[in-house]
Amino acid sequence: MSLAACHSGPSAAERPTIWAVAIHGGAGTLDKQASPDKRGEYELALTQTLAYAKDHLARGEAAIDVCEAVVRMLEDDPHFNAGKGAVFNEKGEHELDASIMDGSTLRCGAVAGVRTVRHPISLARLVMEKTRHVLLAGDGAELFADGQKVERVDNRWFDTEARRQLLDEVLQERARTGALLPPDPRQTYGTVGCVVMDMHGHLAAATSTGGLTGKRWGRVGDSPLIGAGNYADAWAAVSCTGTGEQFIRHAVGRSLTARLQFGGQTLDQAARAIVFDTLQKDDGGLIAVDRHGNLAAVFNSQGMYRALADSAGRFTVRIFED
Ligand code: ASP
Repeated sequence: MSLAACHSGPSAAERPTIWAVAIHGGAGTLDKQASPDKRGEYELALTQTLAYAKDHLARGEAAIDVCEAVVRMLEDDPHFNAGKGAVFNEKGEHELDASIMDGSTLRCGAVAGVRTVRHPISLARLVMEKTRHVLLAGDGAELFADGQKVERVDNRWFDTEARRQLLDEVLQERARTGALLPPDPRQTYGTVGCVVMDMHGHLAAATSTGGLTGKRWGRVGDSPLIGAGNYADAWAAVSCTGTGEQFIRHAVGRSLTARLQFGGQTLDQAARAIVFDTLQKDDGGLIAVDRHGNLAAVFNSQGMYRALADSAGRFTVRIFED
């Protein structure tokens, strides 16, 4: 029996014929006092990716393809902590994590700790499509990449001055106080993600990250862990951002869809229960879409870069509370 057949989802007749998409650029945002120009840069990047997603979904493109393409765009944008612009680990290097999941089949793929792949999300998709595994890590993921048509770059290519400064601050603070993470959680988080319900009623989720600034070498967060930082099934698709360890502990991705499947909660109820009752203040947030095309973007940090659109005409880009 196929994975999809084991999984009882909504019947085809119930499936809506609309589309919906949510994108996030992480729960670690600019300060509210940042200049309008700086803020505008993030809003523009989110608006452009959202416009791309909207156009392609309106043309009937598949959820999984839109998720991958959106995340690739954000991986190339140095404003966000994924791909170019990823944060540094404590050794001053980049180790990138990503995962992707097709909710209509439960097929999924992930990579952790990759160092030379320009678009980790596409390597994650290749793990899904070309192997019988779900997650490849470190040297094994790099070796797999050698045999695939994926663009490779030197690890230094991901460097940006802003992230270098952040690492210096984190390491100085660590030497002074012993604190592993910076006192201000806004400086810690990043990650990009996309969740989609397409015109065919299929759900998908994709997430990519450089992880946490100053993270231990070899540390893997929630983003490449299916069921934690990224998940999609027949009920909903979820992408998370924040303190990965917390999202792993609470298996946030699958918990959210289980609340819909077994608990009868709405998407909004489920997202709020997890973000405000299960997680702790400043842990981060999530975006999600359910099988009816409802969208949620909920966070317990100061802000979360986010962009939401649907076929009913919604098109919003936000950083802080509405
Ligand atoms: N969740 C990511 C991680 O822990 C980081 C983030 O979202 O900022 O690796």
